[in-house]
Amino acid sequence: MNTAAAAIRQTDTQATTENGRDKSPAKALFCGQIVRSALWPFPGIEPAQKEMLDMIVDSVDRFFADTQDDFARWDEAGEQPEEFVEALRELGLFGLIIPEEYDGIGLSNAGYSRILQQASRYDSSASLTIGAHSSIGMKGLLLFGTDEQKKRYLPRLASGELVAAYCLTEPGSGSDAASIQTKAVKGDDGSWTLNGEKTWITNGSIADFFTVFARTDSEGGKISAFLVEREFPGVTTGQKEDKMGIRASSTTSVNFSDVKVPAENLLGEEGKGFKIGMAILNNGRTGLGGAAVGGMKTCIALAAKQALERKQFGRSISEFGMIKQKISDMTVDCFAAESAVWMVAHYIDSGYADYSTEAAISKVFASEAMTRCASEALQIAAGSGYMKELPYERIFRDSRILTIFEGTSEILRLFIALSGIKDAGQILRELGPAVEDIFNHPIKGFGLLSDYAGRRFTNVTSIGQDRIVGAVCEELRDEALIFEKYTLEMARMTDVLLRRHGKSIVDKQFALQRAANVAIDLFVGLCVLSRVSSMTPDDSRQYRQALAIAKLFSHKAKRRMNRNLRAMLRNEDELAKSLADYIYEAEGYPWDTLDAG
Ligand SMILES: Cc1cc2nc3c(=O)[nH]c(=O)nc-3n(C[C@H](O)[C@H](O)[C@H](O)COP(=O)(O)OP(=O)(O)OC[C@H]3O[C@@H](n4cnc5c(N)ncnc54)[C@H](O)[C@@H]3O)c2cc1C
Repeated sequence: MNTAAAAIRQTDTQATTENGRDKSPAKALFCGQIVRSALWPFPGIEPAQKEMLDMIVDSVDRFFADTQDDFARWDEAGEQPEEFVEALRELGLFGLIIPEEYDGIGLSNAGYSRILQQASRYDSSASLTIGAHSSIGMKGLLLFGTDEQKKRYLPRLASGELVAAYCLTEPGSGSDAASIQTKAVKGDDGSWTLNGEKTWITNGSIADFFTVFARTDSEGGKISAFLVEREFPGVTTGQKEDKMGIRASSTTSVNFSDVKVPAENLLGEEGKGFKIGMAILNNGRTGLGGAAVGGMKTCIALAAKQALERKQFGRSISEFGMIKQKISDMTVDCFAAESAVWMVAHYIDSGYADYSTEAAISKVFASEAMTRCASEALQIAAGSGYMKELPYERIFRDSRILTIFEGTSEILRLFIALSGIKDAGQILRELGPAVEDIFNHPIKGFGLLSDYAGRRFTNVTSIGQDRIVGAVCEELRDEALIFEKYTLEMARMTDVLLRRHGKSIVDKQFALQRAANVAIDLFVGLCVLSRVSSMTPDDSRQYRQALAIAKLFSHKAKRRMNRNLRAMLRNEDELAKSLADYIYEAEGYPWDTLDAG
């Protein structure tokens, strides 16, 4: 047996016995480990589930294709008509993830993500109406509800008689979700009185069922989650927001004025609301990821057609290298995002204990890839793309929200880096307990990290045991070596970060951003290698081009990772910080060529 094969056998045993589904493959990268069993083989789909999905995809195609012109009008008008929401109900699209016992369709996370992808190919607002309901609006009830609560609400949520919304954000509390001010005060009879204002709530005007987070200042925690009906006296919604994109999707404030919430509508345990809120977002990220992939597929189809049809300088613009580069980049981005989102959905469906870091990676990558894709598609269409007559500008506007809601890219990068470093920190056993508190909620716990400077961990990790070079197909062995090498580099980088910054690491955002970027490239790249390696090799162009995608992603990722790693040691961070401070002070850009000299 060769060394690689022996290492793989060893790793397989180790993964099932030690790692199993308890080990987060993305966090493991920070310790220099590739959890091969979590990444290989690339997850497939049961034939029965595929048949069901094909049917739903087909009905989405038939209905949405007929509605194409309406989507542009509704974007202009800034709302979807009630008949459209009714049609979504009739298609069963509000019951996608609700189990059959509660009259839903009972799709897996992966199946649901695939359906949102399909809806997003036509219109982001339409997909969001369905997504905000399922991914976040009533997901808390599914994950944390009691049997009684589920019986009471799920059948009506499945039929769309009740549309759901998720109410976390407030005027003074966005990314810092733990700082919400909406208050829930417990009465003697166990019921709650809710007061406060939630802002920018998707489905606000059409929802009848709200998952609301409020400060309860109870023992064991400060925030609790509640199931609130529009019918409860004191619930009102504000005017529809006039937005840049996803204009037809309803976004409003939701106000609670002395709203009496019965004791039986507390969701999960009292005081566990923050954890519930984050768990909902983690579980729902594959919905947004799927939607981003759907948007990218539309951009690629539109851009390819446009490139082939448009002639300049006596030639089709599709022949120009710079246009080919864009089409190629968009395709690699889409394939990579699709692979990562599908992998994460599989983790959720197969009962992984911790998939929060992977879910954050898939959200950051897919949302940013969609933003790039929408911009490049518009660039290929150029002047025509800028005109409202064609869909590019709407897609471009719609895509902009993806890196903002359900966790901004900045906050998720912090989360990815700090979660991974926490895992690495835990390898230093004696420091584990001290590090634990701060990292339970990395975002919440800024500034509290205990002193663990001066420690090294790379020599106690099992670097080198998780070889993937024998697991990939022959054509991708060089690329597998890239990811093995850079996983090792990731561990070294984590080590340097821990030693250099100790407890102040949480404030080192330039460094954390780089660490997150390397982790994103590693995890997404491994998903791509796994997917292509799991394809049946043949002489088809589709297979050869999938290999090309894997190579393109890997080599570009290598250059990006190299840049990020090098910048850990040598960078201009202090110059950048001081420049930003100067601009804050000057309240803008102070130079003018008129003053030169
Ligand atoms: C169209 C739309 C629909 C929405 N739907 C919902 C919904 O259904 N339910 C709901 O509860 N909310 C919803 N939101 C709110 C959304 O989730 C928030 O906008 C988002 O969480 C960011 O909060 P913020 O806009 O207040 O930005 P802020 O938190 O004020 O952030 C401003 C900027 O600072 C950055 N930043 C903040 N903190 C840090 C930090 N520690 N380090 C580095 N950078 C940082 C952010 O990344 C961002 O770039 C929606 C928003 C929009 C626009």
